[in-house]
Amino acid sequence: MNKLIDNFGREISYLRVSITDRCNYRCIYCQSEKKFEFIPHQEILRFEEIVEIVQEAVNLGITKVRITGGEPLVRKGVVDFIKKLREIKKLEDISLTTNGFFLSEYAEKLKDAGLNRVNISLDSLQEEKYKRITRGGSLEKVLKGIDSALKAGLLPIKINTVLIRGINDNEVEDFVKLTLLKRPLNIRFIEFMPSGEEVINEFENKFISVQEIKEKLIKKYLLNSIKISTANGPAKYFQIKGGEGTIGFITALSQHFCKTCNRIRLTSEGKLRPCLFSNKEVDIKQAIRNAKTDDKIIRSKIIRNNIEKAISIKPEGHKLNEKFSNRDSFKMSKIGG
Ligand code: SAM
Repeated sequence: MNKLIDNFGREISYLRVSITDRCNYRCIYCQSEKKFEFIPHQEILRFEEIVEIVQEAVNLGITKVRITGGEPLVRKGVVDFIKKLREIKKLEDISLTTNGFFLSEYAEKLKDAGLNRVNISLDSLQEEKYKRITRGGSLEKVLKGIDSALKAGLLPIKINTVLIRGINDNEVEDFVKLTLLKRPLNIRFIEFMPSGEEVINEFENKFISVQEIKEKLIKKYLLNSIKISTANGPAKYFQIKGGEGTIGFITALSQHFCKTCNRIRLTSEGKLRPCLFSNKEVDIKQAIRNAKTDDKIIRSKIIRNNIEKAISIKPEGHKLNEKFSNRDSFKMSKIGG
């Protein structure tokens, strides 16, 4: 079994693939309300190109792939794409991050296609507030989507909640109560990162550390530390006795988790990004398209070289909490959160 090891001894086993920059939501912390300039279709990687890249990445040592966006479920053909990924031998885990809006229609089909599990973004349990944060989303549809994902067995289901002071920090306990039900939901509180446009000017006022939230919860609940099988990322998980769900904390900003970072990203326009918060990238799409050949051996070699190049420039760590410069290049909607 091959392993991809970077210059700092980290094993890179996880690839996040953004399949589109388009989204049916305009979350206040992620995208501007202004008209969004989408990447032209021909500049977006074709599904066949992504499958080729993932195949080579797996040959080199990647074992887990997460599909993200934009909103991955707005891209036509996503179910067949998952089927193709499933055919890649040695790819152990395929997951998908979604806002959940289309999930009730897709959950069963995605499961049948070979998707293992989903992460669902949910920042409020109050209809009006949810609409305001997402700029027009439907809480009802997302809750139905969660039910469908549970029914389809897309487990474990992780609910991603970005904490924004003064907006949803008063709902933390309502989210925690979801873990006390007889439903295996893993609620993950995520620190808001300076990557959007609208609330960014007030970033310091809106940021709330998960440590602060955790300290409040500890006063009221006994949080037992637990391990969950798919937790290879930065979250730490806890459980309250009696509930089937778990609570996770992701300290994206207040504590670096770069030392154990095992991931690399492929953007929808075909750039390999070894770190979400660094501008360094490798244009793998251009390299493949410039080759102008269908020769599998040549293409595979080009892809391999470009993946290795991206790993070789993976920085030791990000300095996001020291300097919020060049924010545009951090936009999650473009890179894939
Ligand atoms: N559309 C999908 C969704 O809503 O989950 C996938 C893409 S979205 C960019 C991926 C994740 O990034 C979401 O969980 C979202 O909450 C998170 N995200 C986006 N901007 C963020 C920010 N400024 N700080 C923290 N998380 C952010």
